[in-house]
Amino acid sequence: MKTPSFLKGLVWLLVPVWVLSCSPKAEIYKVAKPLMGTVVEISVVCDDARHASGAIQAAFNEMARLEAMMSVFRDDSELSRLNREGSSRPVRVSPELFEVIEMSLALSRTTRGAFDITVGPLMQLWPFYAREKRLPSSHEIQEVLRRVGYAHVILSPEERTASFAVPGMALDLGGIAKGYAIDRAVAVLKEHGIAAALVNAGGDVFAYGEKPGNQPWRVGLRHPRNPQELLAALPLANKAVVTSGDYERYFLVDGKRYSHIIDPRSGVTAQKTASVTVVASSAAYADGLATGILVLGAQEGLALVESLPGVQAAVVTEGEQDELALRLSKGFREAYPLDERHLAAQRVRLVN
Ligand code: ADP
Ligand code: MG
Repeated sequence: MKTPSFLKGLVWLLVPVWVLSCSPKAEIYKVAKPLMGTVVEISVVCDDARHASGAIQAAFNEMARLEAMMSVFRDDSELSRLNREGSSRPVRVSPELFEVIEMSLALSRTTRGAFDITVGPLMQLWPFYAREKRLPSSHEIQEVLRRVGYAHVILSPEERTASFAVPGMALDLGGIAKGYAIDRAVAVLKEHGIAAALVNAGGDVFAYGEKPGNQPWRVGLRHPRNPQELLAALPLANKAVVTSGDYERYFLVDGKRYSHIIDPRSGVTAQKTASVTVVASSAAYADGLATGILVLGAQEGLALVESLPGVQAAVVTEGEQDELALRLSKGFREAYPLDERHLAAQRVRLVN
């Protein structure tokens, strides 16, 4: 008997779903790879090694593709081309790059300019990127600040182009691209029928589903001055946890620590905050927001978080007598009760 054509369509629709999904008798498959200036670790829950490895490989490929597109360290990236040509004409970009720039401009408005991807020229000025290990003069900073400001980025959604209103501007997606790549990796794993996974890019994480035995994924909240130590292990479901800190990437001039995050309003490196951890339902959003809050500081940053639905944050600052102060948003306190004795043993004081 001939299958009616509408049923054929249905069969094609159902078969891949059946073939691709994992059964409940599953275990964790984990692969780590160096990517985006860090080590990315992908863990998936699956009952079939080949299926797991195919899905993980596809997720890594997607992250590598996005890195090649959005890195400022590669002359041949799409972002570098935009930076070279965007001052003279609108440059057509791929949908992913357009989306990240659009998200970034929205985050700039949310953080009142504290998160701003137009920090590119400022990044070149500070020794983090510059070869010369000296601090810029205030005159140099003022000169470069004229080429900084998210309001000078022109996007045209119809043509999918980007350009700069001020010559010499340059975008740096270092504060958001990693989070975006994590979100895309998660989407690829889901497309491959993976029902539970954790993508960890150097401590920035998205987790969904559960581990075998109905256990939640747990993600460490790290001690910013002693990153091997954990302040807490947060149970995570369908959420991203992203940390911006001055402890992993920084530079020293005359023994003083300078963070790689710059206040785009003053042009000076952010010094107020040791680390900011944001929990949200998108890693890109959490990534950009954590960077922005690091610039805003604990008080203004946490006030902002309280106004954003579904977002939680933990902010660590230098306290008195080499103690650290930990401040939590209301939602964070409710979702993740912390052990104060454990914190005290690590010289961290919960302030609120
Ligand atoms: P990490 O790179 O350690 O994950 P972040 O997510 O905070 O940390 O990103 C820091 C990077 O973001 C910097 O290296 C730079 O590329 C970029 N950046 C620095 N300052 C800002 C800022 N105020 N707004 C947006 N991006 C920034
Ligand atoms: Mg960030």
